[in-house]
Amino acid sequence: MSAAVANLRTLVLNADMQPLSWAPLSVWNWQDAFVAVIQGRVIQVKTYDDVVVRSASQAFQIPAVIALKRYRRRKRAPFTRFNLFLRDEFRCQYCGDRFEARDLTFDHVIPRSRGGVSAWTNIVAACRADNIRKANKTPQAAGMKLLRPPFEPSPYQLDATARQLPWVKADLHQTWMDFLYWDSELDI
Ligand SMILES: [Zn+2]
Repeated sequence: MSAAVANLRTLVLNADMQPLSWAPLSVWNWQDAFVAVIQGRVIQVKTYDDVVVRSASQAFQIPAVIALKRYRRRKRAPFTRFNLFLRDEFRCQYCGDRFEARDLTFDHVIPRSRGGVSAWTNIVAACRADNIRKANKTPQAAGMKLLRPPFEPSPYQLDATARQLPWVKADLHQTWMDFLYWDSELDI
């Protein structure tokens, strides 16, 4: 088996045929997906064209897209670094510019030294320059204004944001596009 085939992944859809998650995108390695299909735990929606894997006795196709049989309800979005940057669309919440994750920092809107908590509602993404400018002050005291007040996003809000990020699309397999952007305008 070639390395390219070994590394193929399978997009996992919820029972409503939407990705189980966009952030991060719900994918399994195809071997796990294949076993789940054989065991009847999931529905095979699409296989990779032109990819056939041969065992000693038979040939089979690799699932490109599978769907869960039963709808899985989404829970609260985990409070992680990635999700926080994602909520803020990788934009500094003071100057509004977009940065790579490595150039963003976390800013406690109400500084910890003033009793500010580490929670969705008190932390925003900030560029280094603005983080330094704000220092240990409230936005008001620093003369700075937030783009919007921080909030706890739902998993669906994070998905909607992830779907719009320009660099996300570049990493997606062409075979998945109909399922990921099924409501996009048709380009015929
Ligand atoms: Zn900034």
